[in-house]
Order: sequence, then structure tokens, then C-alpha cells
Amino acid sequence: MDLPTEFNSIDVILPDLTRLFGNRLSLDTEVLEAHGHDVSRHDTQPPQAVIYPLQTEEVAAAVKLCHDNRVPVIPFGTGTAVEGGVVAVHGGLSIDLTHMNQILAINVTDADAVVQAGVTRYQLNDALQTGNTGLIFTVNPGADASLGGMAATRASGSSTVKYGTMRENTLALTMVLANGEIIRTGSRARKSSAGYDLTHLFVGSEGTLGVITEVTVKLYPEPAQISSAICPFDSIENAVNAVLEILAAGIPVARIELLDEVLIDAVNRYSGLDNQLTPTIFFEFHGSQDHVTEQTQLAKQIAAKHGGSAFQWAVDQQQRERLWQARYDSFHAVMALRENAAGYVTDVCVPVSKLAQCFLEAKRIVSEASLPAPVFGHVGDGNFHVVFPLDPDNPAELEEVTGYHQQLIDMALAAGGTCTGEHGIGIGKRKALRQEFDNAVDTMQQIKRALDPHNIMNPGKVV
Ligand SMILES: Cc1cc2nc3c(=O)[nH]c(=O)nc-3n(C[C@H](O)[C@H](O)[C@H](O)COP(=O)(O)OP(=O)(O)OC[C@H]3O[C@@H](n4cnc5c(N)ncnc54)[C@H](O)[C@@H]3O)c2cc1C
Repeated sequence: MDLPTEFNSIDVILPDLTRLFGNRLSLDTEVLEAHGHDVSRHDTQPPQAVIYPLQTEEVAAAVKLCHDNRVPVIPFGTGTAVEGGVVAVHGGLSIDLTHMNQILAINVTDADAVVQAGVTRYQLNDALQTGNTGLIFTVNPGADASLGGMAATRASGSSTVKYGTMRENTLALTMVLANGEIIRTGSRARKSSAGYDLTHLFVGSEGTLGVITEVTVKLYPEPAQISSAICPFDSIENAVNAVLEILAAGIPVARIELLDEVLIDAVNRYSGLDNQLTPTIFFEFHGSQDHVTEQTQLAKQIAAKHGGSAFQWAVDQQQRERLWQARYDSFHAVMALRENAAGYVTDVCVPVSKLAQCFLEAKRIVSEASLPAPVFGHVGDGNFHVVFPLDPDNPAELEEVTGYHQQLIDMALAAGGTCTGEHGIGIGKRKALRQEFDNAVDTMQQIKRALDPHNIMNPGKVV
């Protein structure tokens, strides 16, 4: 049975919202526009109002008003997601969490932190550094996203191969449910068998089951040494075989990223680099000085066995940054391939044993495209992306790219993988979710209906 989609205009609750939020309520057109899109290709659809709460109780009061009056609620982190999760498809109230940016506790001995949902990952890492804690927060999507948004999308990034995703790194949450009730899930204990695992139901729920207002995350010791390396290969197969052997050898690589030759060419031009125009692996190793040297040398030997003989590495920070420049600039280099391009970003993930086959198949699929389409990704997890720099004013091009996107999803699912490794479902992958899980999506809808019978929480997304 479909979820309800009849909602009231925000007008019915505006007087109450004004009383509660005063000048932290905005009806300004520019502000509304800015809250009606993320960085994806999806068209902007602004909410009818935006509020900036400071604490959980204020979020709860606003959500209760929306619940009692059937007004949609769209949580907003920093708007860096790529599947249209914040697009207000049914209008309603955007709850912008950026003013909830207090770090509530850093527990050095336990290596965890409790933060309000609007704290960003750079902010937390800066605080860990300036406080001389010797700890780092490791989940690193490319953007400076909010921890609430990262939990909501079950985000990950290049260091997931060593440290895990937001799923593994979220210990506890404070949630405002669709009826305005506040609950706490999980604890600061490292493990628990206490009842249903609600924390991990809400991690990845993309604002459809409630608003995350506080997040407790794991931290890790800052590595004594870091080495970075890059190595060009003469083929994707050789590059991926090197990755597989490095993982099988148990080398605890901290990051392992593969860029195809199309992207290497794009970043060479964008960043004035002269990397060899072949598939290239970017590595990072963390540990003690001796351990890092040992890991790097072992990886170098394995790379050489697979034809990667031009392995360069460094421990000095400036040199490390120079080696990784191409990876850092990847997204902007793709966008610079065409004037006024909109990024059509795809993200699939497959078992690593299927990585070479799928990466090559992805390249074959996009080689037919009338626009450039680099393939690259966090290959230690089997996760890779294609970014199409799309002409936003050309519907034929959108249709063409949508066709390739579908082929990439079909391929990943046929290989036993998933339609998204880290970007989430949003509005962009709802069909793909059904394709991946079939009637399990009905179970997701039952959960949604139980927690949000009026479908006010981010309607039109995920399920
Ligand atoms: C250059 C670039 C590189 C990127 N690389 C990666 C990557 O490597 N890995 C990766 O995972 N992602 C990546 N992303 C995508 C993005 O950064 C992540 O999806 C991030 O987790 C989004 O966080 P946000 O705070 O911007 O959330 P938003 O975009 O504001 O929101 C995303 C979704 O979460 C919901 N939401 C936000 N806050 C809350 C909350 N407090 N409670 C409940 N729901 C909430 C929203 O309603 C929406 O559905 C990249 C983005 C860019 C621009």
C-alpha cells in the first residue's frame, strides 16, 4: 500500500513556528532555494520555510507541530549529498541543523565523541587536534559534511577500507521521531546485546524516520606516521589484481583508490600535473614508523609483480599532498571538462572479487557515451563511481546518461553487489532500491508506516 502523500501547507503552523523560532525562522526566497537542492543533478524544489534550531527540544517542538498538522519535514545537514535527499518534493519545513554545532563531549580514554548533529567532520577533527587528544575521526566523504547528515546517509569514503563506514562508527544517537518524541538509542559501550538495534535502523534512513540531533562516534589514535604512494599500471586488470593481492596479504592499507586514465587526463589538465596517462592507484598507510615502511615496501613489491614498477612514495606532508593532488582534485577536474556542467554522479559497490570485471564493464558501458565519463573509486571496498559532466539544459543527454546509469546498476546487482555503496537512495535511486531488494522494500515501508504513519518525514525519499 502506498504511503500517504496528502499534506497541508506550512501556513497552518507559521504563527506557532514564528513564536518558537523568531528570527531563526526564514521565509526568504534565496534561503528557501538554497535548501531545496544538494549537489546532485536533481531539480531544486524549495521548502516553504526553514528553521535553525539550537537544541533537541526545539527540533521536537517543530516536528510535533508538523506531525499534528500534516506538514512535511526535511532535515538539512550541509546539503552535500548527491541523490536529492533534501529536495522538498512536497514542500514543507526544512530543519537546518547547522546551528546545532556543539561538541558535547570528547572522551579520550574511551576514544569517542558526542556531538550535536550539525558538527562537521573538519570541525570535530580540528577540535581533536587543538585539544591535543591524539585522536582522529576517520569517516571522510569528500565534502565537509555534518555528522548528522553522514549518519543519515550511512556515509563512508576513502579510509573506509581500514576504519569502516558511519555504520561501524556510530555508537549512539539522539533522535526526534515523527511524532515529536525524543529517544536515545545505543550507548557509549563498544558493544551491546540490548534489544533491537535502533541506532543502525536510523543510520542510513536519510531523514525518513526522524531527525538525528546528537551522534556518538568512535575515534581512533592518530597514526604516528603516514605514508602516501601512487603507482601507475598498464591496465585496469593489473591494477585491480594488485589491490586484491595487497588486501589478501593482510596489509592494513588505510586508503586505496583507483583512477582510470580518463580521470588522470582530466586532473593533469585541471591541476597542471604530469601523471602518466594510465590507470593509477593512490595508497595511504598508517602506523608506527617501522610498520608504515614495512607496509609500503610490501605493497610496492606486490605492485611491481603486477607491472606497477613506477611506485612513488613519501612521508613528508607536502610531498604526500603533491602525490595525492590528482585524487583530491578529481571531482572538480571532471566538472571542469565542460562549461556549466552539472555532475551526474553514480555509485555502485560490488564484492572485491568481481571488481576487475565490473570496473572494466563499467568502462565499456560509458565508452559509448557522447560525453566524457571517468570511472574511479574506493576500490579496497569494491566501491566505484562514474561522474558524467552533464549539460543541465539538454534533456536528451540526461536521458542518455540515465540509460548508462541503469546499465551500471544492473551490472552491480548481477555481480552480487548493491546500487549504492555510500551515496544513498534519495529520490534518485528509489527504483533501483526495489530492483535490489524486491519485497524487502515492503518491509522497509512497514517500518516507515509504524514510525511515521502520516509520512511527514522527508516524504518521497528512499521507500
Ligand atoms: C565532492 C564530494 C565528494 C563526496 N564524496 C563522498 C564519499 O566519498 N562518500 C560519501 O559517502 N559521500 C560523499 N559525498 C556525498 C556527501 O558528502 C555525503 O552524502 C554526506 O554524508 C552528506 O552529508 P550532509 O550533511 O551534507 O547531508 P545533506 O546533504 O544535508 O542531507 C543528506 C540526507 O540526509 C538527511 N539528513 C541530513 N541531516 C540529517 C539529520 N540530522 N537527521 C536526519 N536526516 C538528516 C537529509 O534529509 C538528506 O536526506 C561527496 C559529496 C561531494 C560534494
